[in-house]
Amino acid sequence: MSVDFESLSGDLHRLKDLALAEIAKAADPAALDQLQIQYLGKKGDLTAVLRGIGALPAEDRPRVGAVANEIGEAVKTALSERGLELRSVVQAQRLAAESVDVTLPGRTVPRGTLHPIPETIAAIAEVFGQFGFVVYEGPEVEDDLTNFQMLNIAPDHPARDLWDTLYVDIPGHLLRTHTSPGQIRVMQSTKPPIRALLPGRCFRYEAVDASHGFEFFQVEGLMVDEGTSMADLKGLLDEFAHALFGPRKTRFRPGYYPFTEPSVAFDVECVVCGGVGCPACSKTGWMTILGAGMVHPVVLQYGGIDPERYQGFAFGMGVERISNLRHAVPDLRYYLENDLRFLEQFR
Ligand SMILES: [Zn+2]
Repeated sequence: MSVDFESLSGDLHRLKDLALAEIAKAADPAALDQLQIQYLGKKGDLTAVLRGIGALPAEDRPRVGAVANEIGEAVKTALSERGLELRSVVQAQRLAAESVDVTLPGRTVPRGTLHPIPETIAAIAEVFGQFGFVVYEGPEVEDDLTNFQMLNIAPDHPARDLWDTLYVDIPGHLLRTHTSPGQIRVMQSTKPPIRALLPGRCFRYEAVDASHGFEFFQVEGLMVDEGTSMADLKGLLDEFAHALFGPRKTRFRPGYYPFTEPSVAFDVECVVCGGVGCPACSKTGWMTILGAGMVHPVVLQYGGIDPERYQGFAFGMGVERISNLRHAVPDLRYYLENDLRFLEQFR
């Protein structure tokens, strides 16, 4: 095979055209790497052509070297330019894939809300707080003495039939059947004047239905001072009823509790019919919202308070009952079922 400058130079130029065409078609950086090895590597095509230089006359060798350098540079430049192009294409694809539309509205974070029972307790406490009543808490596991006997309910007193009691495995202890034992605890630990509010959970052995639960909430109120009267009680409860249910008539009816004397039931004009008479108020036009009375002198004595000097009144209400009336809830079992469809209505 005869080698001369013209044929070698022609080979080099064909090689260059081929290389530039393949580089232009390279689809990704990996393909470019392959082409670099194929043309410029130690065992590459350009190197192979240059091996023919040795067969050329001495005066032709520098000219071929110059052409080879020029072609090598052209291939390198093409590789690097195509590399830049491919990188910008990859980047554009990534930007398109990861794009964020900043004009879209954000996802809303779901916000919680108070359960209607603590919400109602807070509403009750807010009203009485304006009259100086301070919130206290008593224990849920109570002793028989404080839950019954000190509230003038003797062990054999027929009034115990009113409370179906859940006893615990500690002799003389039970789950409190009402918040009233809190009255004794406050009187024993505080000197008059006393204005106490005692919200809390109570327990009775009840068959569960729409209006009875074995677990329920009460709020107890107690005021003890010199000269405290039924008129103070009526005025306070009127303010409470108006704050929660709007301006409407109220009344006292005779009632009975062993720990108050006299005892009353406190009624408000029916919140459904406004006093006309409807199924909700058994056609009476009135709804009983709490029980109250003047603290029995025996109970004051158990509390360590002199009944000759001090008088007091107490009241107690079922929180579920108040919540039912505020929110028109027909069944108190909803309060313990943790059904979000129910709970989300109290936002
Ligand atoms: Zn009614």
